[in-house]
Amino acid sequence: MSNSPNSSPSLHEVPILHVDLDAFFASVEILDDPSLVGRPVCVGGSAARGVIASASYEARRQGVTSAMPSVVARRLCPELIILPGRFERYEQYSHRFHSLVNDLTPEYEPLGLDEVFADLRSLRRLRIRPVEAAQQLRRRIREELFLECGVGLGRNKLFAKLASKRSKPRIVDHQLLEGPGVVWVSREMERNWLEEMPVRALWGVGPATAKKLQQLGLYWVRDLRGVDQASLARHVGSAMAATLASYARGEDDRPVDSRRELKSLGHDQTFATSLVGPGEVFAQCRHHAGVVARALRAQGRVARTLSVVLRFDDLTSLSRSQTLPFGVDDEAAICSLAQALAGSVDLSRPVRLLGLYASSFLARENNPVQLSFGVSVSSDVRDEAVEHSRERQMSSAALRDALDDIRQRYGANSVGVASDLYGDGLRIERQRGSHAFGPESPTTPAP
Ligand SMILES: [Mg+2]
Repeated sequence: MSNSPNSSPSLHEVPILHVDLDAFFASVEILDDPSLVGRPVCVGGSAARGVIASASYEARRQGVTSAMPSVVARRLCPELIILPGRFERYEQYSHRFHSLVNDLTPEYEPLGLDEVFADLRSLRRLRIRPVEAAQQLRRRIREELFLECGVGLGRNKLFAKLASKRSKPRIVDHQLLEGPGVVWVSREMERNWLEEMPVRALWGVGPATAKKLQQLGLYWVRDLRGVDQASLARHVGSAMAATLASYARGEDDRPVDSRRELKSLGHDQTFATSLVGPGEVFAQCRHHAGVVARALRAQGRVARTLSVVLRFDDLTSLSRSQTLPFGVDDEAAICSLAQALAGSVDLSRPVRLLGLYASSFLARENNPVQLSFGVSVSSDVRDEAVEHSRERQMSSAALRDALDDIRQRYGANSVGVASDLYGDGLRIERQRGSHAFGPESPTTPAP
């Protein structure tokens, strides 16, 4: 379904915009390293259990997709370049992307690093046509960030998001077909347009739900129309059944929430060889703490809650969390808490995945770290760990700023703690490519 520019709809008809950057992580890597242009590039984990997080169109032409196990991707494309990812670099680009959307309207809601919803009704007085606004935004993203994107316009979030997906380039028979770049769904198009969609294109329909629906013979949105909601609920749960029923009618009343904020940030890693024993787990906690601390500082925030997630070889998972009376953004402070949390779990089983997440954010200048406190902490974490963390948070601000500066200039592995040092350099280096995917430490190209 292509849109003719002559029939450009009004703001009243398609007030919601969804913009999604193309192959975001992989595109940023290619921008930073021109020798990658035209080559199949992915960001993800390259080891046995690694997963592709983002694939360039050159990689996609050869059948590689995101969420694909890296082992499968390599089989499809032996010359595939898999990069470990640099979360803070992507955040820098994301920040610039968001500010371009903000120039259009402050009524926008980020959805991850590379997707944004915007409500264009705030542009009413400017008498701008939504398609014009979308094309302008696309042009600025291309000219100022050197990134490509797709934009969708619709009556609500459901249509806007489905439309942006349709705006993207496609791979057909290993050939890349340009997408229209901007797609809108006007009122008169809505019903037919939606009915042709596969159910798995709908928001919230993951592979598991899609499979259940297919077992019920439901492949297309039109198939959902005749289905009794109560009987559907028996298969997919009542919440999902209700959502599917309203999507099938084209209804989605979620507003664009411009106050929506990042709720948590973290780092997780699936190991090619599982960690055995507290020593190995604690060493990884230190690495994770560094990544999380640097991401927090890049945002000028401190976190009051830390959570550790462990997945064992039998695929069972455990999590432990602790909320503090003050916020932390210091590596040593976060590390001592992470180790205390991990240490409260029985670590006699091999650990396949370790995650460390920070939440309950405060602006760094509002951190009550200097105040004395007398709260009791949960029995999971020893009081000393919390007190130790507070001391580290207070004492190391100056040192930490200096270290950040050095890493910024010379790369993430230029500075580390002495116990990370091995004959061949920092241990962080050795781990490159051995994780599934997560925010990497901030590296800058060598000067
Ligand atoms: Mg994207």
